[in-house]
Amino acid sequence: MNDIILLKLGEIVLKGLNRRSFEQKLMNNIKFRLQKIGSFRSYLMQSTVYIEPADEFADMDAAFEAMTRVFGIASVNRAAGCEKEPEAIARLAIEYLREDMLSAASFKVEAKRSDKRFPLTSIQLSQYVGGELAEAYPQCRVDVHEPELTVHVEVRDLAAYVHAAPTPGAGGMPVGSNGVGVTLLSGGIDSPVSTYMIAKRGVRLIPVHFFSFPYTSQQAKDKVVELAELLTAYCGRMTIEVVPFTHIQEEIRDKCPEEYFTLIMRRFMMRIAQRIAEANGARAIVTGENLGQVASQTMEAMASTQAVTELPVLQPLIGMDKEEIVRIARKIGTFETSILPYEDCCTVFTPKHPKTKPKLHEVAEIESALDIEALVDEAYCGIERIRVGYDE
Ligand code: ATP
Ligand code: MG
Repeated sequence: MNDIILLKLGEIVLKGLNRRSFEQKLMNNIKFRLQKIGSFRSYLMQSTVYIEPADEFADMDAAFEAMTRVFGIASVNRAAGCEKEPEAIARLAIEYLREDMLSAASFKVEAKRSDKRFPLTSIQLSQYVGGELAEAYPQCRVDVHEPELTVHVEVRDLAAYVHAAPTPGAGGMPVGSNGVGVTLLSGGIDSPVSTYMIAKRGVRLIPVHFFSFPYTSQQAKDKVVELAELLTAYCGRMTIEVVPFTHIQEEIRDKCPEEYFTLIMRRFMMRIAQRIAEANGARAIVTGENLGQVASQTMEAMASTQAVTELPVLQPLIGMDKEEIVRIARKIGTFETSILPYEDCCTVFTPKHPKTKPKLHEVAEIESALDIEALVDEAYCGIERIRVGYDE
């Protein structure tokens, strides 16, 4: 039996002239992910990507799992192939779907042929394979309206394929097809989710983490590296930029009124993020901000944070409830790591009464006590870069 994985393309199929370049990105991303797992052949034909094992060690279960996390794919199907012969197709369906047929109470066959030279029409083929399956598994009745199991038969260019229900793919657009952004990654629940959501729109991301050693510990940094590693299943390989933030925070503590600490700190984050963006051709800054969640996420506070950058600040979680964010964090597998109890630089020197409605000119005036340029330069020059998702 010919074990194969079929991937159906998502939104890419709506693209016009530039569709080829989206497909190219997708195929590259797929090949990168598969490389880590083993030796596979992958090719694209008629809006479908085919993945076959290239040797006997290729782990098809692992490949299947990995493909459910690649953006740009609408559905993932584990299938078996055979020659384009009605009898061979029926035999394959009987053998390959044995367990599905034995555990379902009802079924129907949905046949599709993209090869119009095939001797039977789709309806005739469905009826023929359905009849053979019903005979082989008499306990499973035919129900064309609400079947428990739908058997898919696809007659394509090179072969015919049989599979059961498709598994939903990760959706979205291939990573890299919509440019580059920097994403502010803390150790919390929110920012891994915002990173995932913007990667899903096809953006290749550079995670930036602000690290305030010794106020925040090595464990807090390791946690962020682990979160980024988990995200590579969706985002592909990345280089985390770990920015030394201690001196900036100490300067703010020493020279600014306490109620402005967080606001001014966040303006520094944006300036440094912009610097990193410029150095890497990135065109946006992504954050996990959520309207009203904390004092620094009021409209006034966000206006003051965003005033220091010309780049668009993408906040995919802005209108979501915590519960929805947690649901996504669990789905993508970052939740358990996010709730590990290490401090973040935002919790260092937190004001007791943070300003929630800052005036832009006030913030700028208070900040002028600091040598902003020099502090940003110093932090930028001290960046440590950590690669995740590379085979090393
Ligand atoms: P999260 O759960 O992502 O930590 P949060 O609700 O705790 O978010 P804040 O601490 O106010 O919110 O941070 C808002 C956003 O700022 C975060 O989602 C993240 O994008 C960014 N951010 C906060 N702290 C850091 C940090 N130490 N390094 C990088 N980005 C950070
Ligand atoms: Mg946080």
